[in-house]
Amino acid sequence: MTSDHDPIAAIATAPGRGGIGVVRVSGRNIDTLVEALLGRTELKARHAYFLPFLDADGNAIDEGIALRFEAPHSYTGEHVLELQGHGGPMVMRRLLARCLEAGKALGLRLAEPGEFTRRAFLNDRLDLAQAEAVADLIDASSEAAARSAVASMTGAFSHEVNALGDQIVGLRMLVEATLDFPEEEIEFLEKYDARRTLAGIRSELVRLLARARQGAILREGLHVVLAGRPNVGKSSLLNALAGDEVAIVTPIAGTTRDKVVQQIVIDGVALHIVDTAGLRETDDTVERLGIERTWAEIAKADVIIHLQDATAQTETLDEDIARRLPPRTPVFQVFNKVDLLTDQTFGASAWGTGAANRPSDAAYPTDNRLGMGTASEPADVPQDAEPIRLAISARTGDGLDALRQALLAVAGWNPGAESPYLARERHLQALLKAQDHLDEADAHAAQSDRVLDLFAEELRLAHDALTSITGAFTSDDLLGVIFSRFCIGK
Ligand code: GDP
Ligand code: ZN
Repeated sequence: MTSDHDPIAAIATAPGRGGIGVVRVSGRNIDTLVEALLGRTELKARHAYFLPFLDADGNAIDEGIALRFEAPHSYTGEHVLELQGHGGPMVMRRLLARCLEAGKALGLRLAEPGEFTRRAFLNDRLDLAQAEAVADLIDASSEAAARSAVASMTGAFSHEVNALGDQIVGLRMLVEATLDFPEEEIEFLEKYDARRTLAGIRSELVRLLARARQGAILREGLHVVLAGRPNVGKSSLLNALAGDEVAIVTPIAGTTRDKVVQQIVIDGVALHIVDTAGLRETDDTVERLGIERTWAEIAKADVIIHLQDATAQTETLDEDIARRLPPRTPVFQVFNKVDLLTDQTFGASAWGTGAANRPSDAAYPTDNRLGMGTASEPADVPQDAEPIRLAISARTGDGLDALRQALLAVAGWNPGAESPYLARERHLQALLKAQDHLDEADAHAAQSDRVLDLFAEELRLAHDALTSITGAFTSDDLLGVIFSRFCIGK
């Protein structure tokens, strides 16, 4: 484990060529570096200097802007030196190497992924939820995701979490004050209207959870898998949804042997759509590998589109497919090629005969419906709902809008909701845990032989869950996991 006290350096800009490239150095004492690299004993903090960056012999590696930030007024909270040179891979590599060489006596080393942001967190420049939002902003795959990442990064989400925590502490302090006077316990709850205060806190938590859930959808996107027999139009549907030619479309069954992933954005929500090898019995080894991979993708999906050919007779294979789909994942039964249906063929088709050709109910167990099988709560859909059936034409685009809207609905996306806070699974879990403890607290308060110290204890646990979001007490292990997923230089 490397030390949080070493000075660190890294190229902060993306690899490759660019107009500008930045090498960033952070540490408690990096002034000797300034002298060695820039040939000046002093740089005024927050002033831009246009200077040559010098190698050990005093020759210029590049020239550009040098900026010095003085602790604690910097991104990391330490002294920071930023060298903005020309953004070529060789220039940047030489400049970084030169910094490491000149800073050797200081113990300057290469920064690990996310280490600048980790320092910012350790030095109280940001809390943990804000630090995570920095990474999420960089990774944002839609404008809406970027916007809500900024809300979390600038502290709006943390602020609400903290305000809620403060209210819980306030209530708890009242209770604890009463605990020393047992004869007053019973009257306490009435006197301070404790249950109503608690109800207010609980309803605010519900609101916060809703906004965080929407944000989690924006952050994660939705993993959709296209499955079905060969030639039903999976690749064509992917292309139609994506709006350009990404998958190989051919009239020969069994063409898509490997997976093709396309990301599309609907209403700001990213959908990662996986086109898979057609599912069928086969002796071809390569094709069989593709089919195995298809089942692996299906197991990981948030939603499965089970695509069928509306013009074909339903085959037992489709019932087999339906039976093998994971029970907790929502399934859309989508019938493609409806443009080929005429009034005459409609009645005999898989789509037209509806119920008669629908895979039997046994093939879709009751919980194989619209509840999202992920840790976020089941979408608000009745458990006995039929699997969604849709008729589409990948060729004409018929029915695609309905399909898009159904996909958003199953994700739990609510376009009319309050602006989301980009949240992670970790945050949702913490909010849900806090909610459980507040529910418990209320249950204690509702009992006739209520025990105030249990009430107080549940409040304490709810508060602990909330503080884990902003990271007031966070283990090094968790910090390691969170920051290792950042890019280097951030
Ligand atoms: P996949 O094997 O399931 O990926 O199927 P493809 O997307 O490769 O399509 C198989 C064949 O069906 C191709 O000839 C497509 O042009 C055709 N096809 C796909 N969708 C439609 C549709 O909506 N209408 C019609 N008429 N043909 C389609
Ligand atoms: Zn295909």
